[in-house]
Amino acid sequence: MEVLVSILACLVLFGSYVAIRQLIALRRELHARKAEQKLALQMAQHDVLIGLPNRRKFQDVLVQLTDTIAPEKYRAVMMLDMDGFKTINDVYGHGFGDALLTGFSERLRETVGEEGVVARFGGDEFAIITPEIDEIGDAANLANRILQRIEDVFVLDSRQVTVGSGIGIAVFPDDGYSPAELLRRADIALYRAKTTGRSTYCFFELDMDATILHTTLLEQRLRNAIENRLIKVYYQPILDLGKQEIVGFEALARWSDQDFGQVSPAQFVPIAEDCGLIGKLTEQLLGEACTVAGTWPRNIGLNFNISPLQLRDVSFPLKIISVLSETGLQPERLTLEITETSLMQNADTALVILQQLSDAGVRIALDDFGTGHSSLTYLRDFPIDKVKIDKSFTMHMADSKECEAIVESILVLSQGLGVEAVAEGIEQQDVLQKLSDSGCPYGQGFLFGAAKPPEKIAELFQIIDQSEPERSRYSALL
Ligand code: C2E
Ligand code: MG
Ligand code: MG
Repeated sequence: MEVLVSILACLVLFGSYVAIRQLIALRRELHARKAEQKLALQMAQHDVLIGLPNRRKFQDVLVQLTDTIAPEKYRAVMMLDMDGFKTINDVYGHGFGDALLTGFSERLRETVGEEGVVARFGGDEFAIITPEIDEIGDAANLANRILQRIEDVFVLDSRQVTVGSGIGIAVFPDDGYSPAELLRRADIALYRAKTTGRSTYCFFELDMDATILHTTLLEQRLRNAIENRLIKVYYQPILDLGKQEIVGFEALARWSDQDFGQVSPAQFVPIAEDCGLIGKLTEQLLGEACTVAGTWPRNIGLNFNISPLQLRDVSFPLKIISVLSETGLQPERLTLEITETSLMQNADTALVILQQLSDAGVRIALDDFGTGHSSLTYLRDFPIDKVKIDKSFTMHMADSKECEAIVESILVLSQGLGVEAVAEGIEQQDVLQKLSDSGCPYGQGFLFGAAKPPEKIAELFQIIDQSEPERSRYSALL
């Protein structure tokens, strides 16, 4: 009997022991699950790199803060992004970019203070809810302090970088009640701030909505114009200044909309880039331009502008080569014009693309030279055949010693490097004289003629053919 009692006691004890172990395990699991859930919630509401609230959390907090705001007080919503972040990231690498974002967000937090909120929406896009303010001017003061703080030099990995930022501001309750409306309006104001120049802030104003509407409408019309091939190519002559002969033409896109009128490519090309239509537009225009150039005398070249985005598309060289083979234009007659910024943005891919094009015989020109970073490394490292001196220098050569000196230096540089120089924007005879005296080999500008439709170019070649031998191609233009 005693033995039986002992066995039973043992069994009970063992059972309790097992039960307690199970209880402990269960508790641990629950604890772990809670921690996991907390982490998941934290991750769902915060940005992974810096740990700042993300867009979702920002919107929740904005509702709470505006619901509980003191009477007669305001809070402003600010949207901001870093100027040139993409380039810094591409040039110095992602590790450096991450460190810069962290430093940038720390400065924002310090300046905004505990009573406000700083969130990261992704990339270099940040949003702020200001502390409660008495008047709208307080938001302007804070924006100014943020801009000043941001502009201090960042020293990271023993490198020094300076960045700027644009800030768009919408004020609660004047500019809206809901987070979506406030953010949308702050974003519109940011867009305006970015177009007015570096490091500035801008408050939302009602007419900005109209501007956005204008852009959206223009975008719809552009889509339609590309779909129906309504954008045309005009051709502006490029001359050998020494021989006074036309050596080629630059293809320039022309679009006339029934309501918007003549829209400049400087306006619609960026829209085509933004809405993913630039590839289609380029293919259309290049096809048309190569076909037209095929009808010109064989010694006349074609210059064609390409968008920076296309230097990120690794299939771009193939597309160009297939347009050339379809239209029968010899690659040597085609010069693609690119800008320095397009080289900076994605240097490695750009180099591969340009090398392939250059190997195929296509020429490469650096457009608007002098307006970007004018880094000489591009001329050394990329297969550049020509530089086009920006018209802002050429046009003022006659009245500005500085512009004259810049043009002359570019000419010396290009001669030294064996790169052809083309001066853009020649409008006056005395500028042409100065360029000729400085030994500038090629030029283009309204003095010789603006861009014209293809039929006018065909007429021009007829005039040249029929004219007396002493009448040069240059005088045929004038
Ligand atoms: P760009 O490539 O630098 O083209 C030269 C611009 O200067 C053209 O303006 C031309 O009309 C203008 N121009 C030429 N000579 C003179 C002159 O003597 N004085 C002045 N004041 N201006 C002169 P446009 O046609 O408005 O083109 C503006 C820019 O749009 C071009 O600058 C180019 O970057 C871009 N673009 C034009 N067509 C295309 C295209 O088909 N594709 C792409 N991606 N961009 C294009
Ligand atoms: Mg050009
Ligand atoms: Mg140019």
